[in-house]
Amino acid sequence: QKEEWAKLKDEPTITADKEQVELAANIGTPDDVDGVIANGGEGVGLYRTEFLYMGKSQLPTEDEQYDAYKKVLEKMEDKPVVVRTLDVGGDKEISYLDLPEELNPFLGFRAIRFCLENEDVFRTQLRALLRASVHGNLKIMFPMIATLEEFRQAKGILLDEKQNLKNEDKSVSDNIEVGIMVEIPSTAVIAKQFAKEVDFFSIGTNDLIQYTMAADRMNERVSYLYQPYHPAILNLISTVIDAAHAEGKWTGMCGEMAGDSIAIPALLGLGLDEFSMSSTSILPARTQLRGLSKEKMASYKDKLLSMGSTEEVIEFVKEKTE
Ligand code: PEP
Ligand code: MG
Repeated sequence: QKEEWAKLKDEPTITADKEQVELAANIGTPDDVDGVIANGGEGVGLYRTEFLYMGKSQLPTEDEQYDAYKKVLEKMEDKPVVVRTLDVGGDKEISYLDLPEELNPFLGFRAIRFCLENEDVFRTQLRALLRASVHGNLKIMFPMIATLEEFRQAKGILLDEKQNLKNEDKSVSDNIEVGIMVEIPSTAVIAKQFAKEVDFFSIGTNDLIQYTMAADRMNERVSYLYQPYHPAILNLISTVIDAAHAEGKWTGMCGEMAGDSIAIPALLGLGLDEFSMSSTSILPARTQLRGLSKEKMASYKDKLLSMGSTEEVIEFVKEKTE
């Protein structure tokens, strides 16, 4: 089987009915790019920049960050690289930031909420990203966006730093797409409104599932409720994809669900454009997608979205993909 997968390393990801999707990888450090390339990744769909900030005693400087982003962009050549701005808090702790103890960290002061209140930290990262943008195909996304206002504010700061860099005679790419992670139900529900303003969506199912089902992703006791194939989740995903397409934008997914062999046929049918997963899942996913018909999976969309339970979804997908 491994030999079969290896043959597809340099092949595009094309379904049985000749529809193309993108298979990208999730990375945490520049060194992870070697694995992406070795496994035939067509891009980086999520670069979790937290690792630059973790396991240190102080904030990474603008130059340190610039070096890391440049390395990833250069190694990926002209392939798309989606970098997520700092997603601190929740399960991701950074000791020297002295974040307050909270009763519900997952519902608390994290990610974009932290960055908008600590603008100096945010601006340093954005400047490093903007400077690195000339070295490849950079896309920037903001995590944990719950309101349009947060997106507008974050994008405003990004444009402000871009102007500052230009005033300093530093070169910055003019083709950087700016998108958001959809991992909070409020954002999925009004994806139509967001789609007019963002360049793309990337669905973060790891968090979207926990917030939709109200089941902590770290809590074993309620893990039975953590259901990726629940019709509520599929409906939210579908809403996001349709909203993007209506505005000519694209939707990716960078949660674990994107590499799951039961989810993949359903996501293909819902119209997902980019699947981002751990590098080692890419070739198995490409193999699976080459055997699937997008048109056929799309014909099951209404049926899937009207189902009442996870079990029904699993059974149906298995039956239709046998
Ligand atoms: C997600 O929430 O699905 C996601 C990709 O982000 P993280 O797992 O880093 O929270
Ligand atoms: Mg998340």
